[in-house]
Amino acid sequence: MSSKSLLVEMQQVQLAIDLIELGARLQVLETETDLSRARLIRLFKEVRGMSPPKGMLPFSTDWFITWMPNIHSSLFYNIFLRLQKDQGCERMEAFIKAYRLYAEQVAIDGAETVLGLTRAWTLVRFFESDLLQLSACTRCAGHFVAHAHSPTHDYVCGICQPPSRAGKTRKRRQGVADRVAAGATSAPLDHRLA
Ligand SMILES: [Zn+2]
Repeated sequence: MSSKSLLVEMQQVQLAIDLIELGARLQVLETETDLSRARLIRLFKEVRGMSPPKGMLPFSTDWFITWMPNIHSSLFYNIFLRLQKDQGCERMEAFIKAYRLYAEQVAIDGAETVLGLTRAWTLVRFFESDLLQLSACTRCAGHFVAHAHSPTHDYVCGICQPPSRAGKTRKRRQGVADRVAAGATSAPLDHRLA
């Protein structure tokens, strides 16, 4: 084994550890690293102190379009894109940084991390498969996750036009909402991403 492949392997182990710590499922690790399943399971047990949970990954794009998940998904995805475009981060580096920043922003607002790491990864994969697109809200100009090929000319986001049941959580969602809108106009996250 050459020294280069050793280095690559170490980077892959570190990537797997980062992902496990953030809550990744085994399928995510198997897709994003070349490490064997047996090694990944061992790593998972060492990092989390338990066996990886079994079960299917979420496979529907619909979840990302429902109201609150859409706001969180849009916040995460805007950060993810900006880390790649503005900071020149590689795909998985941007993914991990974006997820940490997303969780941090949500924690500042005292809200729940509605978007789990495995969901966030599924979101990225759906974009890569052209199943989702970003649509610009015609009122706030924020960019929001939408089904691919859905019309954009009169699109209004879930923040500008919340469903009536949203009233109870209006105050809590506002902080997250502000951050999605801010992502479009680029202001407050800049110092965080620098
Ligand atoms: Zn809007």
